[in-house]
Amino acid sequence: RIVYVNGDYLPEAEAKVSVFDRGFLMADGVYEVTSVLDGKLVDFEGHAKRLERSLGELDIVSPVTTDELLSIHRELVKRNDLTEGGVYLQITRGAPADRDFAFPDPETTPSTIVLFTQVKNLADAPAARTGISVISIEDRRWARRDIKTVQLLYPSMGKMMAKAAGADDAWMVEDGLVTEGTSNNAYIVKGGKIITRQLSNDILHGITRAAVLRLAKEAQMEVEERGFSVEEAREADEAFVTSATTFVQSVVKIDEATIGEGTPGRIALRLREIYIDESRKKAI
Ligand code: PMP
Repeated sequence: RIVYVNGDYLPEAEAKVSVFDRGFLMADGVYEVTSVLDGKLVDFEGHAKRLERSLGELDIVSPVTTDELLSIHRELVKRNDLTEGGVYLQITRGAPADRDFAFPDPETTPSTIVLFTQVKNLADAPAARTGISVISIEDRRWARRDIKTVQLLYPSMGKMMAKAAGADDAWMVEDGLVTEGTSNNAYIVKGGKIITRQLSNDILHGITRAAVLRLAKEAQMEVEERGFSVEEAREADEAFVTSATTFVQSVVKIDEATIGEGTPGRIALRLREIYIDESRKKAI
């Protein structure tokens, strides 16, 4: 596999980052994952905009322009012959001469940028056919979940808690309401209405979420942006999650409760279909 590091395309074994890199020492960095369908990038613009915002919130200077970023994404997809999967991108505050809590001067410490591709079956993922199970856990992340940082330890622990309980994923709960999944946004459907938590600093502003809600409204579906509890989710007709690499995926079990018939619901399946159709058409 060919990866991109600070201006160079290299075989992955030759790609290197300093041990002083603040991404490594302090999780001082942000990332994006853009999905690839038919060798093309899905919603690159949305990911580029969110990246810019994440960097801005943390005062990290981007080492590349959005146009350069697009060329690097495309070049990497080409060099790796990627037809379906994702491009992972990470920018960190770089590698100062020594470890220090204070941010280094960006003039002398340029940010580090790394990209690599991942092969994955997206459109035909088996989990989309069966649906997934989730457990509910307390949300113990920091209070700026709107910034897509590489600080992913708690979500990783949540995934492991799910695994230990025989489930596929975890939904995190704060003050009695579901925030989001470990790596996706969470939704329920009741009486034909799609319900998902409103945007704030409490959740990541999913790029897939924005597209799916827009498509739902265009298809005359009713959407309500508000928090919901696990109890409400247990009584829902359907539940689902969205993310760049899973698109729309049904949730058929929450803790011990089966949702609806225990199979992917009609609305989630319809949204998945129209999202994939549009993504294929608009990918660049
Ligand atoms: N919430 C969290 C916590 C995530 O990690 C992700 C995926 N990175 C999402 C939501 C979904 O965002 P997107 O649709 O942009 O992939």
